[in-house]
Amino acid sequence: IFITFEGIDGSGKSTQSRLLAGRLEAKGHTVRLTREPGGSPGAEDIRRLLVEGEPGRWSAETEILLFTAARRDHLERTIQPALENDEIVISDRFADSTRVYQGATRGALRGIVDDLHARMIGREPDLTLIIDMDPDAALARGLARGSGEDRFEEFGIDFQRKLRAGFLRLAEDFPDRARVIDGTRGATEVGADIARVVDQFMAA
Ligand code: C5P
Repeated sequence: IFITFEGIDGSGKSTQSRLLAGRLEAKGHTVRLTREPGGSPGAEDIRRLLVEGEPGRWSAETEILLFTAARRDHLERTIQPALENDEIVISDRFADSTRVYQGATRGALRGIVDDLHARMIGREPDLTLIIDMDPDAALARGLARGSGEDRFEEFGIDFQRKLRAGFLRLAEDFPDRARVIDGTRGATEVGADIARVVDQFMAA
């Protein structure tokens, strides 16, 4: 089973992916917790090129290629082997992030993202948990780092608002696998919600 977490910067994805991994492990499952950009040695190298460079270093098109290259390596080296080994793979971000960050917020690039995905990745998650949250709330809660490691600093709150709308639209595009989770509550409550959704999915 391949489960992904998606949402804006500071929505609590990383915390919730760790909570879910721990919960599934406690039930006896073998879990591979991973993340994007990154998740394999090569993809972590590409991550550094993406997040450590000065803002605006790459054009949107080049970014799409770098994210896709990283994802291909992540898929080949980490995700596919784990799935073949009957592990549950939980990824903090996957292709939906590229659809939204590079595709939906910066002009008409979604077509490029989808074409590349079809040719080079071709795999969708079985279940996608979109943690929805107002960007002001994410900043106020201090979840967003605002430190240059994320895109609050680079693009500001308006960009995060566009991202949020993009993720909600995405949930409508992929109703079979995407579930929107209200992320404005405490981590324990959000985690309980996610546990319910995942239990339901696994029982089906
Ligand atoms: O989720 P995480 O904080 O690890 O992501 C690292 C950075 O990469 C964040 O600033 C995020 O906004 C950005 N990102 C992006 N496009 C993606 C995925 C992540 O700009 N497709």
